[in-house]
Amino acid sequence: MLSVKSLKGFQYHAFTAFVHVVMPRPTWGSRTFATSGSSIDSSLLKIQRATALKPKPVFDNSLPFGKFFTDHMLEIEWDEKDGFSAPQIVPHHPLSIDAAAPCLHYGVQCFEGMKAYKDKSGVVRLFRPDKNMKRLNDSCQRLSMPMFDGNQFIECLKQFLKVDRDWIPDKDGFSLYIRPTVIATSSSLGVHPAHHALFYVIACPVGPYFKDGFAPVKVLAESKFKRAWPGGTGCNKVGGNYAPGLLPQKMAAQQGYSQVLWLFGEEDYVTEVGSMNFFVFWKRADGKRELITAPLDGTILPGVTRDSILELTREWREFEVSEKTFTMADLINAANEGRVIEIFGAGTAAIVSPINGISYMGKEYAIPCGKDGRAGELSTRLFHELCDIQYGRKQFRDWSVAIH
Ligand SMILES: *Cc1c(COP(=O)(O)O)cnc(C)c1O
Repeated sequence: MLSVKSLKGFQYHAFTAFVHVVMPRPTWGSRTFATSGSSIDSSLLKIQRATALKPKPVFDNSLPFGKFFTDHMLEIEWDEKDGFSAPQIVPHHPLSIDAAAPCLHYGVQCFEGMKAYKDKSGVVRLFRPDKNMKRLNDSCQRLSMPMFDGNQFIECLKQFLKVDRDWIPDKDGFSLYIRPTVIATSSSLGVHPAHHALFYVIACPVGPYFKDGFAPVKVLAESKFKRAWPGGTGCNKVGGNYAPGLLPQKMAAQQGYSQVLWLFGEEDYVTEVGSMNFFVFWKRADGKRELITAPLDGTILPGVTRDSILELTREWREFEVSEKTFTMADLINAANEGRVIEIFGAGTAAIVSPINGISYMGKEYAIPCGKDGRAGELSTRLFHELCDIQYGRKQFRDWSVAIH
């Protein structure tokens, strides 16, 4: 197979087509490693269409998150010796992996969350997909899994979106949620770097995060359980970060709070909320208005939405924008002195999620919002600004990437 690498493009294709013909895949388990190099090659992509298409759910507010998957999925295998396999788009299907696979035992797994947006004229766009690829590569590196060419991955992703484009709703507030995932699939219980990995992408249509309109929620500041710590994996989107959050999340829900506000250290530094970055818009003690969020010190997930909000508001030059540590004491003082203007979470799912109350050490603090208990001015403005860019109504830098 090594000699194949030196062949010209059309021969390359002829070769892979040949492999495809003589080695039909009776199950989902066997794949052809037509590339002996270590890179993903989107030009080798093969498409095996589903013979019967699934009925699509109704794209309205009853659409549940993450339940209805598109007809197809993208798969790329990686092997220590052979590198990346030819990417393929195949029907969405259950995986067949060894019960010993490290992803099932040691959490050798990472993922991404991104969306495709379709406008009224049918144009599909991705929002800053390069950021997701960078983050997925960082997660892979942290878990000793293979790193990859993000541009090639995006090319494959675009092909996948073309195949399943009818699943992308064209209604405002609706989108296709995309879940790139990397799992270590070696057939061995040893705790060691992956010998074998599967990159795959599944997708599901999703409706607006807030079904009854853009409504503020209450959160519980958690002093006991921690989400992340210095030197850990808080800055990576790895599965191992999320399971331990389920118990505190359940306990918060039992007390009527929709998310956990994660704190760190004896000083109770404010970090993130649920799986969103956390923003406070306040008047500082010196009277200056400031939008503040925790810095990327390794314990914070570098959100694409976070970065976009920072860039947008810095461009506005209307108030100070800071990535700085702050504590619950700072926040409570500001709340008590009437200096908090607005607080919100930020992430791909909700874009912006306004917060109107924080419980801390058994006491609830009211956080100001907009009129009639609706979202505040800044949350609302950022939400619309980001939607306008994502659906192509506004252009900002090269953030929106149309698929042709
Ligand atoms: C995914 C995620 C975010 C938000 O990142 P986006 O790229 O904006 O979607 C924030 N915090 C955590 C813990 C996350 O998992």
